[in-house]
Amino acid sequence: MSVTSKRVLVTGGAGFLGSHLCETLLDAGNDVLCVDNYFTGRRTNVRHLLDNPRFEIMRHDVTFPLYVEVDEIYNLACPASPVHYQHDPVQTTKTSVHGAINMLGLAKRLGAKILQASTSEVYGDPAVHPQTEAYWGNVNPIGFRSCYDEGKRCAETLFFDYRRQHNLKIKVARIFNTYGPRMHPQDGRVVSNFIMQALSGLPITIYGDGQQTRSFQFVSDLIDGMVRLMDTPDDVTGPMNLGNPVELTILELAEAVIAKTGSKSELVFEPLPHDDPVQRQPDITLARKTLGWEPRVALDSGLDATIAYFARLRHDLAADGAT
Ligand code: NAD
Ligand code: UDP
Ligand code: UDP
Repeated sequence: MSVTSKRVLVTGGAGFLGSHLCETLLDAGNDVLCVDNYFTGRRTNVRHLLDNPRFEIMRHDVTFPLYVEVDEIYNLACPASPVHYQHDPVQTTKTSVHGAINMLGLAKRLGAKILQASTSEVYGDPAVHPQTEAYWGNVNPIGFRSCYDEGKRCAETLFFDYRRQHNLKIKVARIFNTYGPRMHPQDGRVVSNFIMQALSGLPITIYGDGQQTRSFQFVSDLIDGMVRLMDTPDDVTGPMNLGNPVELTILELAEAVIAKTGSKSELVFEPLPHDDPVQRQPDITLARKTLGWEPRVALDSGLDATIAYFARLRHDLAADGAT
């Protein structure tokens, strides 16, 4: 990472990934402005940063214009869990599309570098496996996941058109499933669901037959990759996959969580959500070559850290309830 101090805007900075990114950017000596409307993010995620004089937080919805002065923008604002992004699908599309337009307009006025948190969902239910950046994807434009997938695809379009039309310095990261401490315990994603269910002795909810696959990346690996991508020369735009290529079935994930927690939870099988992708695995050749980056945290230790986080959270919540 560069040693020169910068003013960095992180939209969605009070969310799971954003809070880790703010922390990393502050540790590197930057000034950080965190912008969030707290739809899925929480002030507690950044509570430990509030006393840092280099850290500032602003409640703001990125679908509205934002006039601030910064050198770099990481655009993470957008709910990421299917439960949350399907809660108000119109707002989800607006967040990706209007949010991208506003942040690109801001970057254009300032001549600032801007990085978009895109997603492996741009590949939809992929017919090419593993997914390389050259694959155009297989996305249903009118389904329940479309507000997220198509919103993110349109945001990518806007990023590349602002580059071609206005010569902006853009970076597009296609992020694959990421887990770790500060995931929202009720956000419905598979890692948080399984761990919370296992720790509470509740049934582990497998959607479908559990044979669908995902590749899970620990949060610190992703943040390292994003910061490296932002620091690349201007001709490096991406899109670039950032993910852990180790692929496993959802059933295997459930078994790993049960084994690690020693839980007596049983497995229950529930209907598969609409358009749930059958398989997903990143090809990270480009990131390896361009960033000299690859994931370092194995699922084993990443799960340990995440289970420890949720166990502490449950303990704190119980203590709060008791007082
Ligand atoms: P998250 O839900 O924890 O964080 C999203 C943050 O954006 C929250 O703090 C939320 O309050 C904020 N937000 C939502 N709408 C907003 C708006 N209109 N204006 C301002 N703030 C708004 O999710 P996350 O996992 O931290 O994801 C962060 C980004 O990374 C998202 O853009 C997501 O699409 C992308 N991503 C995440 C993953 C993953 O596995 N976690 C995978 C691919 C892409
Ligand atoms: N914008 C913003 N902050 C800025 C500059 C622009 O939020 O500092 C928003 C503004 O609302 C505008 C959008 O970004 O609608 C796109 O800006 P651009 O300059 O591309 O387009 P225009 O202003 O011509 O619509
Ligand atoms: N899933 C599951 N049980 C749950 C939550 C999710 O079996 O309690 C499945 C879901 O159907 C999907 C996979 O786990 O196949 C990953 O789901 P998640 O919502 O975490 O991410 P995404 O589908 O966006 O990759």
